[in-house]
Amino acid sequence: MSTPIQYAKGVGDARAAELIKLGIRTCGDLLFYLPRDYLHFTDEAPMAAMRAGDVATVRGTILQTRLHRRPKSRLEALLEDSASTPDGQHDRCVLTWFNPYDLSKKVLPGALVRVTGKVTIFRNRFQMVQPKIEYLDGKDAETLAPKSARIEPVYPATLDLPSTVIWRIMKGVIEPLLPEIEEWFAPEHLAERSLMSRREALRKIHMPLTMKEAITAKRSLAYHEFFLHQTAFAIKRYSQRHGSPAVQLRVDEAVDRRIRALLPFEMTPAQNHVIQAIRKDLAWTKPMNRLLQGDVGSGKTVVALYAMLAATATALEKEEKSGKGFEGHQAALMAPTEILAEQHFITLSKLLEGKKVRIALLTGSVTGPERRQITSQIADGTINLVVGTHALLSEDVRFKSLAMIVIDEQHKFGVEQRSAIRTKPGGAGISPHMLVMTATPIPRTLAMTAFGDLDVSVIDQLPPGRLPIFTKMTQAANREEVYGWLKKKLAAKEQAYVVVPLIDDASPEEEELELAPGAPEEAVSGDAPRAPLSLRLRNATNLQRELQSALLKEFRIGLLHGRMARETRQHIMERFRQHLIDVLVATTVIEVGVDVPNATTMVIEHADRFGLSQLHQLRGRVGRGSKQSTCVLLGDLTGDDGIARLNAMVKHASGFEIAEQDLKLRGMGQLIGTAQSGRTDIHFPDLLLDPILLPLSRRDAFQLIAGDPRLLLPAHAPLRKQILERFADTISLADVG
Ligand code: ADP
Ligand code: MG
Repeated sequence: MSTPIQYAKGVGDARAAELIKLGIRTCGDLLFYLPRDYLHFTDEAPMAAMRAGDVATVRGTILQTRLHRRPKSRLEALLEDSASTPDGQHDRCVLTWFNPYDLSKKVLPGALVRVTGKVTIFRNRFQMVQPKIEYLDGKDAETLAPKSARIEPVYPATLDLPSTVIWRIMKGVIEPLLPEIEEWFAPEHLAERSLMSRREALRKIHMPLTMKEAITAKRSLAYHEFFLHQTAFAIKRYSQRHGSPAVQLRVDEAVDRRIRALLPFEMTPAQNHVIQAIRKDLAWTKPMNRLLQGDVGSGKTVVALYAMLAATATALEKEEKSGKGFEGHQAALMAPTEILAEQHFITLSKLLEGKKVRIALLTGSVTGPERRQITSQIADGTINLVVGTHALLSEDVRFKSLAMIVIDEQHKFGVEQRSAIRTKPGGAGISPHMLVMTATPIPRTLAMTAFGDLDVSVIDQLPPGRLPIFTKMTQAANREEVYGWLKKKLAAKEQAYVVVPLIDDASPEEEELELAPGAPEEAVSGDAPRAPLSLRLRNATNLQRELQSALLKEFRIGLLHGRMARETRQHIMERFRQHLIDVLVATTVIEVGVDVPNATTMVIEHADRFGLSQLHQLRGRVGRGSKQSTCVLLGDLTGDDGIARLNAMVKHASGFEIAEQDLKLRGMGQLIGTAQSGRTDIHFPDLLLDPILLPLSRRDAFQLIAGDPRLLLPAHAPLRKQILERFADTISLADVG
């Protein structure tokens, strides 16, 4: 399995180089290099055996050809069978191609060919229309050998390494390698599920005798793979339940009332539903691990606040009763960008004004003595609630008693960061409860793969009184008209965002995300299929000047981007909130979290440059109040991709619908890229939507771990080995128990 690929039969240095381009370094890699499709061939037979309506493969010599121009361009060739009939005759058959292009130069009298096609009868003669043709003159013995009915796999290939060559090499490695493949399941287990063993499935996926075999082989391998992932999740869940205990947080009615009293509105039924689930989780001594999905604007922040105050309130109760110093519990809220963290900090500070809860902000911009003071107050428990970015993960941030972690917009974080905060010591030997929030809804089965170790809650309802956002797309050429229309909106005392992809001339791209070093690149680029943004694109700095000096000169135009100093940024956001600024020209820094209900209009320049779910997130910044909001997508409407995305935006309002469109436009593989799933090694993304396979593998995996949590039974040894190899970064069996 680990033999370098250049030592496989039929592979030299040149082919090895090509194989490596395809990610195949070892013979084992090759064995797991799976076909993307199959070609179907029928038996080669003499013409005498042909029957009208069948697909047949025959070989023979071209006797004559004729090219017709009318009524349609058409090439006819008369093919004489190579085999003779018992009475010494040679059967003939007419081959017809419409629009033959250069075929007429290749199909010449005297050529030895093999054709495959559907047989019809025309003027009492056998005929094949549009047959597939192979030229046999001067070909090697293998090509010349009669073709028998078979299915040939088609592999993703390169120009210099066609699929047929890959298959030839493959055929040499399969049988010798199969004995090295370890089986994970007893034959009965697989038989009950109508699945093949690993060995059988690998053999049949490369060399199926029927398409049915090929399909079963693929499903079987997918089951094994999903099972492996789900087993890893099951182990994580088990260790969460049986590892270090969490603080039991009983949210009694008094605390519940006090938290709700902070809010200027009633929670929606959907929010209440999630809160009930959270209360139940917290009342247990095991850490909560809950994913909260809710569309942009559905009101996740107050649910997060509730969870955090559940942690701090418990401690404060104690403090009051005992009359002693502060004993207690802390909560942290981690956001992917500084701006979002600052927004949350401001929102929460306002809600908590005059309350005992002490709250602090900790981001990469908080440095020097200020940072030292905050970290020391986090360490001694003076600060109850910290809002921050991944700066919260740094070494020097040590909590006295961290009982609750909330991660906002988790899809913007890498999985590594999510697990990093999971291992953040809560202090005093406790495991914190965790609430993970996302506005990117994904189908249920995908959630099982990406977040298989989490319980999932959904907020499927917007706060009352919201009107759907009116979305329109238009050519960039119409932008003056758009700004003319915007003037009227501004004159009516409404506010607007104008979004552009670039900061200024000097910066090719907005660096809106504050990510830890080593975070996966996918997380940095979010979901946008970003082409390199050329300097010719409009940028925020210039656009602000342009609008202020010309198009919108009677209004106050602000500028906001991620490279500004924290004070400037906060100042500008505050002025926008107080309506001292009418229009905020911004980069994608405002994609998440910004919440100003009086902002009713958004204009997105170069909208075709943004990814679909990013556009949806951006649009979610408006429509937060009771007034009708509008989103105008200005773009270069020439590329198909861009138009498809913008059309989807115009048509669909809900994040779930947008996600479905995104899935269609980008394919599953993209959607569950590392940013979502943390793993690139899912071989069967299309089968993730299979209604049976993933749930089945999940049930089986959780059952297995319930019975043998550390995989210590001899029968589970191969599985244990695989798990430790594949998930070494997140799982350690020694921790379980
Ligand atoms: P998101 O889910 O996108 O994070 P937010 O938490 O930012 O949404 O909430 C969007 C807006 O809706 C905020 O202005 C918030 O105050 C408001 N909001 C949240 N819940 C309710 C509610 N139950 N009733 C009315 N307004 C609400
Ligand atoms: Mg939010």
